[in-house]
Amino acid sequence: MTPASHQTLPKTGMETDQLLYHLQSLKAEDVRWQDGKAFSLVYYPGKEKSDMIKAAYNLYFSENGLNPTVFPSLRQLEAEVVSITANLLNGTAETTGSMTSGGTESILMALKTAREWATIHKPTVRHPEVILPISAHPAFQKACHYFGLKGVIIPVGKNFRVDITAVKNAITPNTIMLVGSAPSYPQGVIDPISELSNLALELDVLLHVDACVGGFMLPFVRKLGYPVPNFDFTLEGVTSISADVHKYGYAAKGASVILYRTAALRKHQFFVYTDWPGGIYGSPTMTGTRPGGAIAGAWAALNGIGEDGYLELAKSAMETTQKLQKGINDISGLAVLGKPDMSLFSFVSTGKLDIYQIGDEMSLEGWSIDRQQLPPCLHLTVSAPHAAVADLFLNNLELSVQKVNRFSWHKISTKVQVGAVKGLQKVLPEKAFNKLQTMSSKASTATQKRTAAMYGMMGALTGTGTLHDLVIDFMDKLNGRK
Ligand SMILES: *Cc1c(COP(=O)(O)O)cnc(C)c1O
Repeated sequence: MTPASHQTLPKTGMETDQLLYHLQSLKAEDVRWQDGKAFSLVYYPGKEKSDMIKAAYNLYFSENGLNPTVFPSLRQLEAEVVSITANLLNGTAETTGSMTSGGTESILMALKTAREWATIHKPTVRHPEVILPISAHPAFQKACHYFGLKGVIIPVGKNFRVDITAVKNAITPNTIMLVGSAPSYPQGVIDPISELSNLALELDVLLHVDACVGGFMLPFVRKLGYPVPNFDFTLEGVTSISADVHKYGYAAKGASVILYRTAALRKHQFFVYTDWPGGIYGSPTMTGTRPGGAIAGAWAALNGIGEDGYLELAKSAMETTQKLQKGINDISGLAVLGKPDMSLFSFVSTGKLDIYQIGDEMSLEGWSIDRQQLPPCLHLTVSAPHAAVADLFLNNLELSVQKVNRFSWHKISTKVQVGAVKGLQKVLPEKAFNKLQTMSSKASTATQKRTAAMYGMMGALTGTGTLHDLVIDFMDKLNGRK
């Protein structure tokens, strides 16, 4: 039975049973992450730990971290999460930070802090610039966009790590901050942080290390004996680090940590307004109200999983990663890109096959895999639940490659669709999009699930202004009212 839709507020509230049943049936359409079918969006530490984190979250369901004097317990939990993170990442006694709602907010805070820092320490800078590897997360571009900074994009080398010579060449008197990732999301490699650190010290600029995905993994990966280059506060030039507890920290969503080498630097992050009739208002991060549950959930994850638990989860993720990488490299026509440092990586088609079509075949088997571009590749973020499905994954992948090989008409239909959309470049984006939608609605369900055409089109349109408009239009249709 298709559940009824709910477009207006019901006159009387629904019965609990009925309401939960409705949610369960809606959820049944989502990816089966419990079966290890999702990559990158869900991090699951197993039922026991997950239930414990949920219980802690529920205990603080109503509490608000906005005013720490009213909820001193939340203040303490946050301080302890920050301390644990600072210790894991070799902070000094002076290192401090804040909890935020996620990696994006942590990065926004680091760049806002850099801007304020520059007004005092680089008073001659009028148009501040931040040096960004092209592999850096889009949150940095978002921060530049929000805070009026200029993001200067630097290419990566053949190994997908930022090209340090290109970084040096991009430095101007307006440079206020360098950025490196540990590791970067697209290919899972760590940028040459130690060289960036030396450069930052030499130039007297800030250096942010984005350890959003690596912060709660790399310390354990290193302890397991895998080679991990220095990337944290051990390096003198590193002035801030972002690390997401809601990724490999396995906490509830809405939990990240932004750390600063010194408290003096963090002060630039705070916002204060003293002239409001509602009282003197101080807020440490972007958000006003701060959910107590996310703070308690992060605290519970760190203390409830502990070092041994994280080592075990990391060991499983790393062994599964190696198994998957070997299996993928063994499939003729596929290859892993670069030498990933952790448990996320991407792979390409080395021959004539369209990697996006291979991704589409995997989607039809229920796998949710990220599509990437520049170059076209598929991306996996591996965590503990994938151990049980690695063989199935490789098996499905090999079959998918065979299918794409056989059904070359897919290629033709993609080419036709790309061609059609390319021809529409000159007309309104709305029309282009409608056309695309009509084409896919006429196709079978299986074809509807295939995104190769969409990505082929994106590839074809990259570099024109049209793609931007097309994506905005797509988001408009995806978000909001039915
Ligand atoms: C996930 C991620 C981010 C952004 O974090 P959100 O929690 O999604 O806002 C930033 N950088 C890297 C490397 C990431 O993997």
